[in-house]
Amino acid sequence: MASPSSLPETSADSSEPEPAVETARRQLQHAAGHLEIDPNIVERLKHPTKVHEVRVPIERDDGTVEMFTGYRAHHDSVRGPYKGGLRYHPDVSRDECVGLGMWMTWKCAVMDLPFGGAKGGIAVDPKQLSSDEKERLTRRFAEELRNVIGPTIDIPAPDMGTDPQTMAWLMDAYSMQEGETIAGVVTGKPPVIGGSEGREEAPGRSVAIITQLVCEHFNRPLEETSVAVQGYGSVGSNAARLLDEWGATIVAISDVNGAMYDPDGIDTRAVPSHDEEPEAVTDHADDVITNEELLTLDVDVLIPAALGNVITEDNADAVAADIVVEGANGPTTSTGDAILADRGIQVIPDILANAGGVTVSYFEWLQDINRRAWSLQRVNDELEAEMRSAWQAVRAEFEDREVTWRDAAYIVALSRVGEAHEVRGLWP
Ligand code: GLU
Repeated sequence: MASPSSLPETSADSSEPEPAVETARRQLQHAAGHLEIDPNIVERLKHPTKVHEVRVPIERDDGTVEMFTGYRAHHDSVRGPYKGGLRYHPDVSRDECVGLGMWMTWKCAVMDLPFGGAKGGIAVDPKQLSSDEKERLTRRFAEELRNVIGPTIDIPAPDMGTDPQTMAWLMDAYSMQEGETIAGVVTGKPPVIGGSEGREEAPGRSVAIITQLVCEHFNRPLEETSVAVQGYGSVGSNAARLLDEWGATIVAISDVNGAMYDPDGIDTRAVPSHDEEPEAVTDHADDVITNEELLTLDVDVLIPAALGNVITEDNADAVAADIVVEGANGPTTSTGDAILADRGIQVIPDILANAGGVTVSYFEWLQDINRRAWSLQRVNDELEAEMRSAWQAVRAEFEDREVTWRDAAYIVALSRVGEAHEVRGLWP
């Protein structure tokens, strides 16, 4: 079991969500304490290499021009090209991109992928844009980022508010300017233009695989495991459906308006995911509870797979699950995390649990380089093998050092990144 950790000092006002960059820095500092790593390297890793900030003007359908702000944060590239998603969400900010970019560095390292970490996005509510407006926004953003992305430099992918179509526009805009089709500049594309089979399902699939492995570790048969999933987008719906298929009982799923709750188990295939029909979960529910209530249900496994910062110092004491598997990026604040650790709740971190997305992105990138598509079967088999091997590495640290799962995952990642910095050195 995880050793209790003391509460970190926090400067943040508890009513304000903790900025991702602050959570990410605390986690890094905490994990570094378990390793003999040069503090100068840790200091470098607390900062991004570069953050690109651009203005993105678009013509709205009514002819007016509106300005948006976009970012691309490059955190670290010591192990390979920068890699990470682009999000379209009103909360996107410089600091959020830096924090999420740091997590991508660890995520790629824990999976042993030859990539570094990046994240970017535009501060915009995509629900307020028509499809044409989204296309113009994406093509202009691609043009603004053209000099800092590329198949061996920085490879964007979908994230919150973006999808395979967004990646197709980005790839097209980039390729048209370069004068040749460059499929490997983005991942998460539609398969018809070099995307990988199984990529969309991959983050949810990895959450399900890791849930199965952690249940196995604690000798809990999936058939006797109850699960609550917050969010029914790509991550939540795929994780819920696979776990349902593998024998677990999914007792709650949710959308932004609330959660469907059925202690006897939900037929997850009968409820449309957010991508199939936006915000349909509550429409299909007999019994609706709030998202806040979902987080405190007395279940075996809780999977927060929607937004960041949902488990905080305000509700961590009320979490009743034995195991939390992080499907979203950064769903637990550092204070919330310390409370869960003190209470002996096992938290499997995002950088391991949802890493299936970037892992299949890596497969997609390999397929693009080789100009040869893999079958869905091959993608899923290789994903499972990669998840199992990352799980073994993290489990070994968890057992040897008696740390939390998060620290164990950070230790695996940070050792790899730290060692790469050590041998490459600081120059110029
Ligand atoms: N946006 C996804 C993540 O947070 C995937 C990133 C990628 O495939 O590059 O892991």
